[in-house]
Amino acid sequence: MPMKFRVSSQFGALEEIRNGRIHNGIDLAMPKGTELHSIASGTVERVVNNIGGLGKGVYIKDGNGDVQIYGHLDQVSVKEGAHIDVGDLIGFSGNTGHSTGPHLHFGLMHDSQYADPTPLLNTVQHYSGEIAGPSILGVKGPAMWIIEKATGHTQGEIISSAKTHIIDWLHAAASVAFDLSFGIGLIGCAALIILGVAGLKDGFRWSGLLFVASSVIRMLLGGAAQ
Ligand SMILES: [Zn+2]
Repeated sequence: MPMKFRVSSQFGALEEIRNGRIHNGIDLAMPKGTELHSIASGTVERVVNNIGGLGKGVYIKDGNGDVQIYGHLDQVSVKEGAHIDVGDLIGFSGNTGHSTGPHLHFGLMHDSQYADPTPLLNTVQHYSGEIAGPSILGVKGPAMWIIEKATGHTQGEIISSAKTHIIDWLHAAASVAFDLSFGIGLIGCAALIILGVAGLKDGFRWSGLLFVASSVIRMLLGGAAQ
């Protein structure tokens, strides 16, 4: 999978900017204002503003007790103590704090120790910027997220509900067609029989054919109209 954002500094890197301290997270170069979505469900443990060079930052504690750290944000969209679901918007990337260019600093704490977040890199990439994935009628990413928030349903629920509605509609349409074919068949046969009695050549033959045709249509639709 191609990376959306370039890794500009690896975990454990020794770089001049940190005065000899090793890098306790991963940096992803991205334009200022890139949407950042949480990679996990959990609670907003801390929102910081320029503590330890992190600039504006968010700490999210997930269900396993691990803490994900998002740093150098331009804008934070969550409050301390708030519950967070996977994919929720937590803020926008920026260049705040001790930073030499717009990027996201992503850190991970396991048992209160900084851990290598590299295994989460693909997930962080996925939830940064526009979220790729299934779409409904071309609606995807943040727009899909807004629809989910507005309707209170997840993407999967919306898709299955749409499927149910379409299937219900097809059933209704098939029932109407079934009834119509039955009606047309009966009326048509009656009309042709009357015309046959009245002297129309082939009237009886056509009525028989119409009856067979309507029976075939009803048989075909029968399965769908159950
Ligand atoms: Zn960093």
